[in-house]
Amino acid sequence: MKYANGNNDQGRFQSLPGKLLLKGGRVVDPGQKLDKKMDVLIEDGKITAVDKVDASGFDGEVVELNGKVVSPGWIDMHVHLREPGREDKETVESGCYAAANGGFTTVCCMPNTTPAIDSQEIIQYIKDRARELLVEVHPIAAISKKREGNELAEILDLVEQGAVAVSDDGDPVMSSELMRRALEYCSMVDIPVIGHEEDNTMTHDGHMNEGFVSTCLGLGGIPTVAEDIMIARDIMLAEYSGGRFHVAHISSGKAVELVRQAKARGINVTAEACPHHFTLTEEAVRGFDTNTKMHPPLRTAEDVEAIKEGIRDNTIEVIATDHAPHSWEEKASEFIYAPFGITGLETAMGLTQTQLVNEGVIDLNQMIEKFAINPYHILRLPIPQVAKGQAANLTIFDPDEEWTFKAESSLSKSKNSPFIGWTLKGKPFAVINRNKLFYSQL
Ligand SMILES: [Zn+2]
Repeated sequence: MKYANGNNDQGRFQSLPGKLLLKGGRVVDPGQKLDKKMDVLIEDGKITAVDKVDASGFDGEVVELNGKVVSPGWIDMHVHLREPGREDKETVESGCYAAANGGFTTVCCMPNTTPAIDSQEIIQYIKDRARELLVEVHPIAAISKKREGNELAEILDLVEQGAVAVSDDGDPVMSSELMRRALEYCSMVDIPVIGHEEDNTMTHDGHMNEGFVSTCLGLGGIPTVAEDIMIARDIMLAEYSGGRFHVAHISSGKAVELVRQAKARGINVTAEACPHHFTLTEEAVRGFDTNTKMHPPLRTAEDVEAIKEGIRDNTIEVIATDHAPHSWEEKASEFIYAPFGITGLETAMGLTQTQLVNEGVIDLNQMIEKFAINPYHILRLPIPQVAKGQAANLTIFDPDEEWTFKAESSLSKSKNSPFIGWTLKGKPFAVINRNKLFYSQL
């Protein structure tokens, strides 16, 4: 019997030992209504026991978990990997290291690359780049050719090649007709249309939330109503077409209410929120830190409360990061010239536990549902289980550990996060997937 020391070989994904015993963890798998202290035995990448396992005479590797949580592997369904086109900001590989570091075993990458993910070739290229990695990558294809909003992409071909959803994320679909057709095509193959919801006729001079703070700072505003209008439209189009509509990065309190009402009427709508939108308000922009600039922008304290309530009552069933890496040079420019977006993969777990679980908004089981159950269901991907006979696809974390997020422990190529230097409670420990193992370096 030997003990794993928790050190990584140069930050690479290690191959999983032939026999690995996760000893003394708290296994939480809401999909099976399981929350119990148990050992997990993994042999040749497969879970062979979830039970009390006697370690005496065991000839494999043992990891003592001392109450750390073992859950099904987490998925982030909203990530920008920047490859192809801006490999200086992130690549498929570096993004997957950041994902693993943050406790994710699967990510979905958005199509606003150069070229956009609007062809079978680009989907295949990304899948090939991720083939050998611990983290699985599922591309989200563009709704419109080149993401220009004019002509529908060949959605059925893209889905056949492996796209799990479509979105023009980064930009809204301004044409109602195009959005309607996308919903109709996607309902034929049962995938969601993910909406970046913004009426851009109201937002092009905007750099932050429109309101008192934007007036004080003299910055152009992005009103919540620009988001609300589009969400209302797309709810109506989902109802009309029978398609499935998923709201990306919801930030407005009114929009949360629109989604709540639509669900009550039986319309196929789901929603995600990002940790920065339930952690920070527009007040954070006062320092002109370009890492507080994102789309949609940080909103008011009332919007934050509405998002928390939406997460609590499951109007918002997914937490996703909108991980948007940008180079230091670009983010070091003046606020009005800086690009929108922040990194998020490595702080999502800590922020969610600190802001939502430790504050009693949701419990640990609900957090795992929003990271490891609901997104797979929305995307019709198999939901991993901590169960005998399943391939080991696991996220292991310490809900009680306090830690400080440092730029140097981030494995993303970009460091544009407003949370550098923040102390959080709840820390990723390790991920296991595809017969590989990775200990978080945060
Ligand atoms: Zn977006």
